[in-house]
Amino acid sequence: MTKKNEINALKTLAKRYARANRIPQHEALNAIAAELDFAHWTQLATRSKQGWLPSAEQLAQAKAFVRQSHPGTGEKESFIEKSFSRPVDEPIRQGKIGEHAYRVFEFFGDIRVEGDGWRILVGEALFAQPVVEIERPHSDTSPVRKPDFLNAALVIADEEAARVRAGISSDWPRRATKPDAEGAVIHPLFGGLSAEWYCLHCDGEITGAQLAQNLWHCPGCGASPIDIFSAPAWLDGSDVRPKPVVRPQTKQRPEPTIKVVDSRPTLTLDEDSISLLLRNALLEDAATPAERLGAQLAEIDVDDEHDACIVLDEDLWPESKEPEAAIAVAKLLGVELELMVSGMSFPFAWPGLGHVTTSTREYVQLLLEAHEEQGVIVRPIKSA
Ligand SMILES: [Zn+2]
Repeated sequence: MTKKNEINALKTLAKRYARANRIPQHEALNAIAAELDFAHWTQLATRSKQGWLPSAEQLAQAKAFVRQSHPGTGEKESFIEKSFSRPVDEPIRQGKIGEHAYRVFEFFGDIRVEGDGWRILVGEALFAQPVVEIERPHSDTSPVRKPDFLNAALVIADEEAARVRAGISSDWPRRATKPDAEGAVIHPLFGGLSAEWYCLHCDGEITGAQLAQNLWHCPGCGASPIDIFSAPAWLDGSDVRPKPVVRPQTKQRPEPTIKVVDSRPTLTLDEDSISLLLRNALLEDAATPAERLGAQLAEIDVDDEHDACIVLDEDLWPESKEPEAAIAVAKLLGVELELMVSGMSFPFAWPGLGHVTTSTREYVQLLLEAHEEQGVIVRPIKSA
């Protein structure tokens, strides 16, 4: 390693340290210098001009110092890589609030704290409004209804969200979270340096400082970094002009919103599902190829009151045959069932052939033979 490279290695470590802790670069350089027993970075730089080099041990010491200050930095994988590689059902933290167990999950920068029948969702943006969801059966009895419990859970969510934000800003270019003297910032995902940015979602005009502070989420509508652009190209040729997004007066998170949700599996017994279940039962009742065709072609009407009428073809379904499964299913569903027979159009010639066997293979064989002897078989082929 040349002398320049070794000093550069220390500078790189200082950059990581600065980014993870969101402090100015010169403070990070001084912190590294202090770790190596210099008064400040200027002293280290002066000594290096006189021939001083960090030893391998000192480099390792500086690396360990940076890694220890923020576990997400150093040679480890990036925050977002770690987030992606973690199984979705693996909590990043778990414990108890009082007697109630909770688990914390992180997904793509968002935090979810959950317990039995409740969850709190906190987005990665700095002042994102937390959403509290309570499952309907626990609506009145859930511990999150108690302010003390909710506050304790929110503290946990905030701690993890702060960690996520530190991880994300470590991944991003330094200039994404720290505006330059002109207030310009670099887009963390797309690059490009600008002091004014625009939100595709709300047409808001946003300053670099606002974006840096809000981790690149629109402070107006909360849109994510992929919706933020340096020019409002989508407004070309339109009358809409971007409006500056007003910075919220209070720099604090809004009160959580509480929603009662029902995420239990729901069986909706509407006309389509009743009809589908009845046809399924008819297929079970069908024994011969003709009856199976009859079940597939039967007209099943379910009216507004969820009463059903099944019209069967007299050639396909013997009039004396009770569709027992269909009747039983209708009874289970509380559906009044009317059965009717009509002469529709049998799809193949010689309807009787459909009743002489229970095997579709045999029936097709009979159909082919009968047509070879007394009819014609056409196989239309679509021209290319
Ligand atoms: Zn917006």
